[in-house]
Amino acid sequence: MNETTLASFRAKLEEIRSALVGDVKNNIKSKADKPNEQVADLADDAAQSYDRQLMMEIGEQEWKKLRLVEEALGKMSQGQYGICTECEEPIPEARLTVIPFTEHCVDCLETIEKNSS
Ligand SMILES: [Zn+2]
Repeated sequence: MNETTLASFRAKLEEIRSALVGDVKNNIKSKADKPNEQVADLADDAAQSYDRQLMMEIGEQEWKKLRLVEEALGKMSQGQYGICTECEEPIPEARLTVIPFTEHCVDCLETIEKNSS
């Protein structure tokens, strides 16, 4: 996958991410800005409660999608974007165009869905 293609997928992923979290993030932030009592273990607790809060705000489906989007962006920075996590083959660009945050190629996804139903 060349740089230009990669950049356009990155832009798409970032667009999806901001569509998912945009307003919600601001909501949560203004709630979280209230003075808090406890300082101990703040980092971990804050991260966890932020995740929970976000999940409740946007719903579980959207939240899962968001995780995939963030994972895809992470992989992109490691040069691993577009690789099926199951068979480790490159996922066809046509599929990534439809679902830029997909983790699996079509074959593997079908197998997974068959096994899970
Ligand atoms: Zn695969």
